[in-house]
Amino acid sequence: MRGLPKAQLHLHLTGAMRPATLRDLAGRHGLAIPPPLPPAAGTWADFQDRYDAARQAIRTPADVARVIAEAADDDAADGCGWLELQVDPTSYAAALGGLAPALEAVLAGAHAAAIPAGVVVASSWTRSPEHATTLARLAATYAGHGVVGFGLSNDERHGNVADFAPAFAIAAEAGLLGVPHSGFYTGAEHVRACVEHLHAARLGHGTAAANDPATRDLLAERQVALEICPTSYPPFGVHELTDIPLRTLLDAGVPVAVATDDPLLFGVGLAGQYSICRDVLGLTDAELAGLAAASIRHSAAPQPLKAELLRRAERWLTDESPRPGTAPSAPARC
Ligand SMILES: [Zn+2]
Repeated sequence: MRGLPKAQLHLHLTGAMRPATLRDLAGRHGLAIPPPLPPAAGTWADFQDRYDAARQAIRTPADVARVIAEAADDDAADGCGWLELQVDPTSYAAALGGLAPALEAVLAGAHAAAIPAGVVVASSWTRSPEHATTLARLAATYAGHGVVGFGLSNDERHGNVADFAPAFAIAAEAGLLGVPHSGFYTGAEHVRACVEHLHAARLGHGTAAANDPATRDLLAERQVALEICPTSYPPFGVHELTDIPLRTLLDAGVPVAVATDDPLLFGVGLAGQYSICRDVLGLTDAELAGLAAASIRHSAAPQPLKAELLRRAERWLTDESPRPGTAPSAPARC
């Protein structure tokens, strides 16, 4: 799976941190290390508490640069040729001197990364629509200078979708992709609302769409891609790995980009997520190459890079040399 060229479209800054880096930064800043996530039946609060604790370890522009450099190295080793890193600057503003300095630290880190990278500025479903508008304006200021998208992260059960339309309109006007989280805890109606009111280009997760044929058709017709992160669902009881409705979505023509979300907390990198699609969900090489192609096609990567990565993904599929991990005796690598 590491040899398959792909794009990473759903990765949060703190969640991208290596466990060893968290230990190191927490030690330097005199902070406790959050305990591991329970393997199953956890709550959103379990996750958010650990995420917030880990985020406290990122306190300087040098910390930001290190986390991004290592995340890009890890994704590059997993075959990633384009990285989109999602950040809510609000969470880092106090430590880094304000919203704009926090975003500039992330942009500097992304610019210096080993692979080409863009930044998605995300507000939170738990904060006000007015705050989202403030962040959309900030994101728009940096369009063409590293910011490529605008999203809404956190628990999408909060907030009323239509109230966030003005923020997404500002982002769209600046040429940014709209990429809110949706359809994780919420149902297909939330997914539809994000497409209809926010004109989302992609959705973080969105697996609830699989339950409703009309929503699947809407995503397929408008080619709205879902960023599906297999290891994000079992800890919350959203799906077991075996129940992720990937095939239902693919059969309906919904574009799917596989991503990692928060490898710090979920413990699996980008190639490992593809391995789960192969080993647990039974996807064929052609289907895996299709996922990789969708991740590239629905990314904000510059057109020449997209074309090159798509050519390489196609070559991966037609290359007949043996691939480690596809032999019957090979262990699953995830
Ligand atoms: Zn996410």
